[in-house]
Amino acid sequence: MEYETVIGLEVHAQLKTNTKAFCGCRNEFGLEPNSSVCPVCLGFPGSLPVLNKRAFELAIKTALALGCRIQPLTKFDRKNYFYPDLPKNFQISQYDMPLSLNGFLQIEEEGYKKRIGIKRIHLEEDAGKLMHEENNSLVDFNRAGTPLMEIVSEPDMSSPQEAYDYLTALKLILQYLEVSECSMEKGTLRCDANISLREKGAKALGVKAELKNLNSFKAVKAALEYEEIRQRAALEAGGKIIQETRLWNDASLKTVPMRSKEEAQDYRYFPEPDLISFTIGEKEVEGIRKTIPELPLKRRQRFSDDYGLSRYDAGVLISDRLLADYFEGCLKIRNAPKPIANWLNGPVMSFMNERGASIAELGIRQGDLIDLIALVEDGTINNLTAKDVLREMLQTKSSPRDIIKQKDLAQISDSGELSGLIEEAVRENEKTVADYKAGKVSALMFLVGQVMRKSKGKANPNLLQDMIKRRLS
Ligand SMILES: [Zn+2]
Repeated sequence: MEYETVIGLEVHAQLKTNTKAFCGCRNEFGLEPNSSVCPVCLGFPGSLPVLNKRAFELAIKTALALGCRIQPLTKFDRKNYFYPDLPKNFQISQYDMPLSLNGFLQIEEEGYKKRIGIKRIHLEEDAGKLMHEENNSLVDFNRAGTPLMEIVSEPDMSSPQEAYDYLTALKLILQYLEVSECSMEKGTLRCDANISLREKGAKALGVKAELKNLNSFKAVKAALEYEEIRQRAALEAGGKIIQETRLWNDASLKTVPMRSKEEAQDYRYFPEPDLISFTIGEKEVEGIRKTIPELPLKRRQRFSDDYGLSRYDAGVLISDRLLADYFEGCLKIRNAPKPIANWLNGPVMSFMNERGASIAELGIRQGDLIDLIALVEDGTINNLTAKDVLREMLQTKSSPRDIIKQKDLAQISDSGELSGLIEEAVRENEKTVADYKAGKVSALMFLVGQVMRKSKGKANPNLLQDMIKRRLS
C-alpha cells in the first residue's frame, strides 16, 4: 500500500512588545530571574489583566500579512491546566473566537510553488520557564505573561522539506513585519508539528502524532523524517498509530512518547471573565494594514524585474531584510545592481557569517563599498586585493582609497615591472616552462601564480597572463 504524509505546524512567536500581554512588566530576554513580575502575571487573587494594545496590533498585522480574515468579534478564554511554570494554573488564550481565521502562506522554492493554508492566528500569554538542576527545579516567571502569537497551519504540507520551507518563509515574513525577534535559541520562536500518514488518495486524515521539543528548523525536519519512517513501518506491519505527543531527542535523533493526547475538553476552557469580548473596527484594521511593508516574495520579484538580478541573487539578498535595504541604499549612490549584489552576496556575506554580524554591525559605509567596486573596475586593484582591502576596511573603518595608498596595494599594470618578475619565474621553473611548451595548459596557471606571489598579489592578472603567454610562445 502506498502512503502519503500529512503535516501541520503550530508556530508560537513571542511578540516584540515593551511590556507583557496583560500587565506592565517588561518583556525582555535575559533579565535577572523573577525580576520582571507583578501580581497580574503571577495571578495573585484580585489582580486584573489589561490587554496590551501593541501585542494585539502586532498579531493583527501578522494576520493581515498572511491573508487571514480578521474576526469582528474576538474574546479571550482561560485554558486550565496545572503545571509548575504556570503560576495561575490557567493560561489566557483564545479558544473559539480567535482574532483571525483562514489565511495562507505561499512557499516558492526551487522547482515548486505551494499555498499552505493558515487555519487561525490567535493571541495568548506564555508560561514561565523551568530550569532543572541536579536535585532542584527552579522556575523563572519573567516569561510568564509575555505575549505569544500562535499561528496554526492547515495540514497542507506533504513532506518534511515542505514543512522546513514553510517555517523558513514564515520566519522571514515575521522578521519583515518586525513583530517578533524569531530566535529559536532565545525561545522567541517555537514550533510543534503534527504528522500523520494516510493511504494515498484517501480523504480522511490518519491518526497523528504531535511532536514537541523541536529547537531548530533542522530538528523539525529531522523529527518529521523520523516519524514518517516510524509510522509507515508500523502501518505496513499492520499496527496502529496511537494519538500521542512525542518528544524529539536531538542526541539520539529519535522521537519518544511523552503522553497520550489531551482533548480540548481536558483543559476546561471557559471565557476569561476579566476580559470582555470586543470588536475591532474596520478603520483600526485598515490603519494597521498600512504599516505592512513589502513582503519577501514580492521584494524578490521586484529585485529580479527591476534590477535584472537572477532569482538566486535576489533570493539571497531578500533573505535578510537589512541586507536588502542596504543593497537598495547602495543603488541610490550608483545604479549598478549586478556588481553590488555580487559583492554583497559574496565577500560581504562571508564576513557577516565569519563574524556572526549583521550588515549594520559590519559598519561598511555604502559609499566606501561603491568606491571599492569602482577601484576594481578601473583596474586600480585586482579582485583578490579588493577582498583584503575590504577586510582592512572592517578593521580600520578607513576608506578603500586610503588603505590602498597606505599599504601600497595598487595593481601593477606596468609591463616593465612585470616582465622582470616573469623572467625570474621562468628562470626558477624550467620544468614547468618545458611542460607548458609540451602542451600542458595548466602549467601556465602555475607560472601566473608564481609571478602573482612575487608581486604580492598586486599584478594585473589579465595583463600578466597575456605577457607570460607571449614570453613562452
Ligand atoms: Zn506582570
